[in-house]
Amino acid sequence: MTRLEDGFGRRFHYLRISITEVCNFRCTYCLPDGYRKEGPLSFLSPAEVERVARGFAELGVSKIRLTGGEPSVRRDLTEIIARVAAVPGVDKVAITTNGWNLERQVESWRAAGLTNLNVSIDSLDRAAFHSITGHDRLDSIVRGLDRALAIGVPTAKVNGVLLKDGVAGGFDAFAEFVRDRPVAVRFIELMRTGDNAEFFADQHLPGRTLTDWLEARGWAPRPRGFDDGPAVEYVHPDYVGRIGLIAPYAPGFCDGCNRLRITARGALRLCLFGELGVDLRDRLQDPDTTALRTRITAALMGKPKGHRLAEGVSGDTRQLAQFGG
Ligand code: SAM
Repeated sequence: MTRLEDGFGRRFHYLRISITEVCNFRCTYCLPDGYRKEGPLSFLSPAEVERVARGFAELGVSKIRLTGGEPSVRRDLTEIIARVAAVPGVDKVAITTNGWNLERQVESWRAAGLTNLNVSIDSLDRAAFHSITGHDRLDSIVRGLDRALAIGVPTAKVNGVLLKDGVAGGFDAFAEFVRDRPVAVRFIELMRTGDNAEFFADQHLPGRTLTDWLEARGWAPRPRGFDDGPAVEYVHPDYVGRIGLIAPYAPGFCDGCNRLRITARGALRLCLFGELGVDLRDRLQDPDTTALRTRITAALMGKPKGHRLAEGVSGDTRQLAQFGG
């Protein structure tokens, strides 16, 4: 049972740890000019990631997601997965990746203990994928995802950003993609960050664009599991996979917030679109996690009720690679 509860009665079983700010893709909505180094690249070491995981697991967290930046740019990613998977109480180790290293590495990640894989694919059209991400790698990424399914990674999902130029015309292709694949494709409504205001104004589509499309074709929403993220997923009797929507602008989106984030530099970020974070790094050097846990539980009382995206306020989040999307 989790002992992590905030001032609004929300409980936390799920932690996202960013392990790098570096990303090798240049997604139009996130890092269109590529990653630019800011300050020393002093990201959490495998031992520090393990200690974060241990501290949170002792407070009841059972699912940990590794994200970034792009987590697979780290050569020690497999070691990090193995260390987190070995923490008592952690029963799900997840990764969010752009997939560029998936085909080559998914077997070693699975052997290290990976249970949940999220791959970002914004378009199934090769040319559109190339123009959104800056990389002509769609085919390899899909092969990597299929490899993950073949070797029995228990849960595999695809994330796509809902863009006027990208997926809006491609819902048919994504539905076909999940006809025989046991995969959930979840579209995320484009979020406005500090850096993408103009792009947002041009490309944002309301989530209803997708749900209207789904409902008109006989897809129906299914109930959420206890450690699910905020996606509402739809099912259809003719399709093995699911299609879902993450709609951060929907009223009440934050009411069920079950997530906490650790930045690649070791700060606890209470809201993706908040300000600053509570530094934990000095507490990660001590094998005894008592002081770490005390700081975490005290900090949790400062978790805000919700983000203020609807008012155009993105906190100090310039883009999502910065703190771990
Ligand atoms: N590099 C990894 C990846 O591509 O999955 C992990 C980090 S990335 C920041 C995590 C997710 O956030 C990706 O699915 C990405 O498409 C999404 N994302 C980034 N910026 C976004 C934005 N402004 N609005 C909605 N989703 C965004």
